[in-house]
Amino acid sequence: MRDWIRLLASLHIDYADAGGETTAGHVNIKCPWCGSSDKGKHLGIALDSGAYHCWRNETHSGYSALSLLKELTHLPSPKIGELIRKYGLQSHVYARPVRAATPAAEDLQSKYDNFHECDTDCLEYLKARGFDNPRSVVREYDLKYGGHVGYWKYRLLLPLKLGVLNGWTGRTIHGEMSVRYLTSTVEDGADVSRLLFCPEYAARWVVVCEGPLDALKLCVAGKPLGIRSVALLGKEVGKNKEAVVWEALGGASPVVMLDADVSLVEQYKLARSLEIQLRRTVPVWRLPSGAKDAGECSIATLREHLQWQSNGQGRTKNGL
Ligand SMILES: [Zn+2]
Repeated sequence: MRDWIRLLASLHIDYADAGGETTAGHVNIKCPWCGSSDKGKHLGIALDSGAYHCWRNETHSGYSALSLLKELTHLPSPKIGELIRKYGLQSHVYARPVRAATPAAEDLQSKYDNFHECDTDCLEYLKARGFDNPRSVVREYDLKYGGHVGYWKYRLLLPLKLGVLNGWTGRTIHGEMSVRYLTSTVEDGADVSRLLFCPEYAARWVVVCEGPLDALKLCVAGKPLGIRSVALLGKEVGKNKEAVVWEALGGASPVVMLDADVSLVEQYKLARSLEIQLRRTVPVWRLPSGAKDAGECSIATLREHLQWQSNGQGRTKNGL
């Protein structure tokens, strides 16, 4: 059972579990990210889920006991791991606060559910793109098909989900169609402020990339290594998207890996802007040499490469 109170007491961290700023079921401490500018105890920790939230600065919020304890204690990770086990705290568990499914979100979900199941064209397309086991990818990542008529025709559809479904994006599986991706808009009922491709499973690292198929490949290759991926659907974090990207991390550590045609300077620019917004270090990981994006790599190559990067051997220092 989770025992935040006993842990905080053992670390001699001053906490409040009643009165003033505390909410029932929470324990409050001075926010370690705010530091001395927090004159009270503005970081609330939910005793049941371990989710924490700073009332002074929303970006000081998350779910990872590891991140919070690192910031609080500056102990090495193995020591923190011991504490996490001893006090039954979650680690790297992907558990966002439940977002209530609004009627709009339910409506959007039923629209998505009504798309076609992926047919052999979709499976062949995925196979050609290097997904060795397309059937299981379709099942696991809830991919759909736009069918042969209408706006979404001949497109492989990927759900854009963050807690609830916010929209979807469709990749043409026919080379001759000029627009590679179409993404749902307000007309479809999409929540356009929250559109990211972000498969939800527990992970230690989240690779921030550009295209949804790159992210899909990174997830398939990275899942056994505790790595998942988030596709921004572009080369930058859009306006007011910081909080959404933060949420998508679910307490895991972000890294940037954009396509090879994006210069390293641009990659570091994105990493730096994430660092400022998320208040944590964001390394840049290179693609396997010669690859132009993650999507074109084989699962095996990408997995080996991710393993190497996440072990720290491939990490490049910020500033080139
Ligand atoms: Zn704070």
